[in-house]
Amino acid sequence: MPRVSEEDKQTIVMMEAAGVLQDVDGHRLETPNGAIFVGCGDADQSVDLISRTLQAIFVEGDPVRPQLLFLNGGALLIPPKSPVRIAYPEDGVAMCRNIRKARALKGISTVLLKAHVPCGMAAEAGLGVEDVVRLLQDAKLHVRAENPGVIIACLLHVDNGSKRLRFLHGASWREWSALSPKERERRYGASTLTPAGTGTF
Ligand SMILES: [Zn+2]
Repeated sequence: MPRVSEEDKQTIVMMEAAGVLQDVDGHRLETPNGAIFVGCGDADQSVDLISRTLQAIFVEGDPVRPQLLFLNGGALLIPPKSPVRIAYPEDGVAMCRNIRKARALKGISTVLLKAHVPCGMAAEAGLGVEDVVRLLQDAKLHVRAENPGVIIACLLHVDNGSKRLRFLHGASWREWSALSPKERERRYGASTLTPAGTGTF
């Protein structure tokens, strides 16, 4: 079973500090008729990530209608340039076809795109956590282009000792991805977090 590397752990901390990865708040997501839930069915994580997603996304008043589309790799199968899709093109085609089909069959117009770390499929493709987040964002653009009008949220499930679910904030990701590694470190690195009150926040 793959583990989260020390480098990826640090990147996750900085992405959380930068607001790229945020606490999930279901109140900000519209799921008026349920949600198509695209994920990787990792046996070691699936119970935790499904239960966290159901609790976080389907807030009081929403119908709890998750349409589960789980294949190894999950949302990483979607972007045409994703190494995971390139390695398993039939799975990528099937995932995209099933998103369109689920929308038509069930009348659901909200799509949750989920990836996770550590993920065996991502590890097989040599992807670090930043690659995974970038591909999640690319998956969002692809699904939106194929399904005009859908509401899409990207989620990252993290297990690096403690398990949690994070929402990928698109605007913060675009800001983050435009920064040099040095600038990221200056703004969000460990040295800016201590001592309290003297950082850049
Ligand atoms: Zn996985």
